[in-house]
Amino acid sequence: MSKIAKRFRVGSKVVLSPDALENYGEKYEGRVFRVESVSTKYMPANQFFAEGKPKGYHPGYDDSSGSALYDLLSPTADFHNSVYDWELEPAPRKAHTTRYATTKKPSDPTYSAQWSGVTGAPKCAGRCSTCGGALHHEGDTHYCPSCDDFKARPTNCNRR
Ligand SMILES: [Zn+2]
Ligand SMILES: [Zn+2]
Repeated sequence: MSKIAKRFRVGSKVVLSPDALENYGEKYEGRVFRVESVSTKYMPANQFFAEGKPKGYHPGYDDSSGSALYDLLSPTADFHNSVYDWELEPAPRKAHTTRYATTKKPSDPTYSAQWSGVTGAPKCAGRCSTCGGALHHEGDTHYCPSCDDFKARPTNCNRR
């Protein structure tokens, strides 16, 4: 068994690498994603969907790639590619990151002890539509540390 590159975990905040930006488009530059799934085993598509997308399996996983295959969550849901380890980089952590109280439970599959509720990004003028808390500008995304999720751009956001 050769070693499989697997630097990221479910819930990690990531950005696309320069190579991936070339493939998928510069419009994703600075966009922060959350890792939704990490797959290191192949399963044919029909079986994969019939079994409700079992954890760790993916119909696009390829053993010869030497890398886990990741699916990503993004606030605008306009990114539909599965990506490899070398297509991702850890989201830049600002020097002054703050850990906010989050309502997300550790039992939630997207909870991350490292990342949940943590941000150093500047605050948005708008509020979270779910909890009313302050939103933060992480790249072109709106992150709510309290919900530990990306949210839609609020109408009174004064930044484009
Ligand atoms: Zn919220
Ligand atoms: Zn904003």
